[in-house]
Amino acid sequence: METLSWCPIRLYDNPMADMIATRIKKMIIAIDGPAGAGKSTVAQKLARRLDLGYLDTGAMYRALTLKALRSHDALDDEDGLASLASAMDLHMEYAFRRRPPFRMIMDGEDVTAAIRSREVSAHVSQVSSLPGVRKEMVKKQRSLVAAGGMVVEGRDVGTVVFPKADVKIFLTASMKERAGRRYREMRKDGYDISLQTIKQEMIRRDHKDSTRKHNPLVRAPDANLVDTTGESISRVVGKLIYLVKEQAAAGEAR
Ligand code: C5P
Repeated sequence: METLSWCPIRLYDNPMADMIATRIKKMIIAIDGPAGAGKSTVAQKLARRLDLGYLDTGAMYRALTLKALRSHDALDDEDGLASLASAMDLHMEYAFRRRPPFRMIMDGEDVTAAIRSREVSAHVSQVSSLPGVRKEMVKKQRSLVAAGGMVVEGRDVGTVVFPKADVKIFLTASMKERAGRRYREMRKDGYDISLQTIKQEMIRRDHKDSTRKHNPLVRAPDANLVDTTGESISRVVGKLIYLVKEQAAAGEAR
């Protein structure tokens, strides 16, 4: 049974803003894009600013990959991995004041750091390309977000998981910038890895994610394309808040 919790805050104090805030509270905001585009940082800050919950669907595929690697399951055994996904107990927490703000607890163990390892990153695209696995994950994601009021990030959120999401964003950046960001992150986390290696691994993962047969990474036709190259986080978040408010002012959320 998956659970998700977050720490709510109150932001709005005037009636006009309250009306928009009430609509925003029910929204599902889908943020898709390739690795290193800044999805997690931007989605978490957006959730915080709008007082919404946050779900990182990539972390769910990563948790399953970690579980499969640990139990030495064959990474192409679709039925086996789909059963593993179905039986897996995930608890995700988002509390913006804590470091890190998003935590993943798998079968009672905090795997927040373990799911970011290079080994998991190297195998997650293979695991997530299996249709049976995706079916289980999409089921879990829909049940976690059923009540709305969430920012959800991933690869197929606006195309497959929530094709009727209230706001869809496709976040991207140049390869140079994406690789540079991941390089700085990994060096900070103590990995001894070259920029060139990161770039190669990223190209490989993007290629697998965007060319797979089931639920590939593609921009939904109605997704807003936001290029974060050379942009500060606060400017990107500001742009997204504008898009969300514009949508909320235009009509009822779902
Ligand atoms: O977002 P992150 O880089 O953590 O995602 C890890 C991997 O999980 C992606 O490279 C992709 O293979 C898979 N994924 C997916 N569908 C999603 C989210 C992530 O296939 N909605």
